[in-house]
Amino acid sequence: MVFWPKIPRAALRPISVVALLIIAVWFLGQERQTTIHFMPVESNQYGEVAPAVLRADYDVRGDDHLILSSSQGLFEQQEQARLYADLQRALAYVSERFGGSALGTISIYIGHAPSCGLHGIAYTEMRTVQVFTCASIPMGRVVNIAAHEFVHQLCHDHYGPAHLEADLILMEGIATWGAGSYWLGDAADFRSFVRPWVAEDRALPLATSYVGRPISDMNQLYYQWASFVEFLIEHEGRERFDMLYVSGANSPASADYLGVYGRDFGALEAEWLAWVLGEHTED
Ligand SMILES: [Zn+2]
Repeated sequence: MVFWPKIPRAALRPISVVALLIIAVWFLGQERQTTIHFMPVESNQYGEVAPAVLRADYDVRGDDHLILSSSQGLFEQQEQARLYADLQRALAYVSERFGGSALGTISIYIGHAPSCGLHGIAYTEMRTVQVFTCASIPMGRVVNIAAHEFVHQLCHDHYGPAHLEADLILMEGIATWGAGSYWLGDAADFRSFVRPWVAEDRALPLATSYVGRPISDMNQLYYQWASFVEFLIEHEGRERFDMLYVSGANSPASADYLGVYGRDFGALEAEWLAWVLGEHTED
């Protein structure tokens, strides 16, 4: 399996973000399901996005923890107030689940996606989360995406700059795992969520890059990675997971699994697969 091409990372991030934006719009137009996410980037590479938060034609409300700006006309005032309360609840929930609070104000910007391609992005160095939606998409789905993006910010605050180098599996895995019930629907945990894929031999290898793959694969990988993170934390503890998280080099499976856990990525993946299929009892 080929992962990231060998091009300078500074160039890679904006390229990957643009590519994913395009894919997301296509996917949601076709199938209208689930949530799409993007890895955080070091800074705002695209002039039109983050500065829009400060524009006059946005409705703004917030406090020291969370500032919400939404494209004018996207929500009625009451709706925006409800959205703000829902986002506050989501931030509190993911902070509790992640085990750490944001170190400063998070700005969240809800923009209008003319094509109704729901998608989100976290500019963690700018403490800015953006979600793009349209009037026909239920507001709850905006909150689901925001929950995932908030965890990227919490990771930045918890792990520092090493977060930007994290193994993609762990970066997106913990953001999805941290979003918990916002992504699980009726499922009890990510282990049971991914079990049918594993049982039916439809699971993708964990060390798969989603670049160039269908967006449905990307989505499946996010759930599998969340389940893998769930496995690592439950079996090896959070402290070791944190050590692992800061040892990555962006590409999938690049973290120092052998150094931290004493067995390599392949061995851990095999253990994870067996765990997913095992009897669902508390260890
Ligand atoms: Zn993400």
